[in-house]
Amino acid sequence: MPLKPLIDAGTIARRVAELGRAITDDYLGEDLVLIAVLKGSYVFAADLARHIDLDLSIDFLGVRSYADDQQSSGIVQITADLTQSIEGKHVIVVEDIVDTGLTVSYLYENLETRRPASIKLASLLHKPARTQVPVRIDYLGFTIDDVFVVGYGLDYRQRFRNLPYLAAIADGTA
Ligand code: 5GP
Repeated sequence: MPLKPLIDAGTIARRVAELGRAITDDYLGEDLVLIAVLKGSYVFAADLARHIDLDLSIDFLGVRSYADDQQSSGIVQITADLTQSIEGKHVIVVEDIVDTGLTVSYLYENLETRRPASIKLASLLHKPARTQVPVRIDYLGFTIDDVFVVGYGLDYRQRFRNLPYLAAIADGTA
């Protein structure tokens, strides 16, 4: 399958370190929980967490929004829930990519019912060309064109998550 390199590992590492420093500055003295949205954000979340110099906790939310396909169904299913209460805590949702915005807006609605002190969003990537629901991204890695990306945690049919860089699938049909 033809892959076109998009963002190299060094560039990703530098940007993730910057985001970690910004979060560290913004949440000094606060009770912070990172919520990594599985599976796509697991690499980003692991790297980001190691650049945040705070006493934080990390939890995971399993979500399915793309069923082995490149099209957003708009249907979001929680496949694994948080293990701790977030009531009264400051939360940062860690996403791999905001595409249509449907997943994040669903997650926000769901998480708000659990009464956290605040919710912000960190996303490695944003594809503004495909927005259906506008979403505010508080900590954004990179804005990209309307291409299907894999690597650094992102998959195509469960493959390519282990690529250390981000690549585009050349023709989108694979
Ligand atoms: P949204 O609900 O914003 O349309 O989609 C969010 C989810 O769709 C992401 O968390 C990701 O799992 C998947 N997604 C959207 N665009 C891409 C892409 O270019 N590559 C991959 N691998 N997944 C994508």
